Amino acid sequence: MSTIETNLQGVYQARDAAIAGRRATFSAPVIVVAVSKSKPLQDVQSAIMAGQRVFGENYVQEGMAKIHALAELGVRGVEWHLIGSLQSNKAKLAAQHFDWVQTVDRLSIAAALSRHRLANALSPLNVLLQINVSHEQTKHGVVPAALPALADAVASLPALRLRGLMAITENTPDEMALRGQFRQMCRLFDALARRHPGVDTLSMGMSADFAIAIDEGSTMARVGSRIFGPRSQSVVQLQSA
Ligand SMILES: *Cc1c(COP(=O)(O)O)cnc(C)c1O
Repeated sequence: MSTIETNLQGVYQARDAAIAGRRATFSAPVIVVAVSKSKPLQDVQSAIMAGQRVFGENYVQEGMAKIHALAELGVRGVEWHLIGSLQSNKAKLAAQHFDWVQTVDRLSIAAALSRHRLANALSPLNVLLQINVSHEQTKHGVVPAALPALADAVASLPALRLRGLMAITENTPDEMALRGQFRQMCRLFDALARRHPGVDTLSMGMSADFAIAIDEGSTMARVGSRIFGPRSQSVVQLQSA
């Protein structure tokens, strides 16, 4: 078995244990997005061989290179999520190549994604609204107070499908603080789902904390290093979105 296959098994076991241990009122399945940023195509192929079908990338160009390479190899049925912040000059490429964009935090980006999706006669793009739940200045995302208006506007765009919310929570060893942020996300998500029937996805939790996130209601974990191994810092820093 490859290391990646072994790692994936561990992640799915941890996911299933977290689902089994949580409140029964959380009934949605929990999807694992394998975050392959800075990792070579061979690693993605190893994960596909092991049965993984959903992948996340932070940078439009890096994702596109892998998407194209797999298409050339005739690989079908893989779903790609953009999970890095998106600049408007990359909206066209993101709309053309990704299946989901998890980082919509303003109407101008949403409108551009919808426009490019329509122009290319593609099916509606799945989008999540990114929330700045930790209120860190350095983080992207809409503040909770501005969420209802943004959600209504995004939901009315013709070529987008509003699926839910995404958050990058604070990187902290303080489990209670972390749980507080996950719980706040869960409350925002419940309110959003009541207002928008198509909303079914709450993307929160990464390698270090996805079991806690699932315990607090996550329906989508974004897991990178625990599947693919640690990333070299320099590679990540050299790339721009
Ligand atoms: C890199 C990244 C992840 C995965 O992080 P790991 O700690 O390696 O699991 C998840 N979400 C986002 C937005 C990321 O940028």
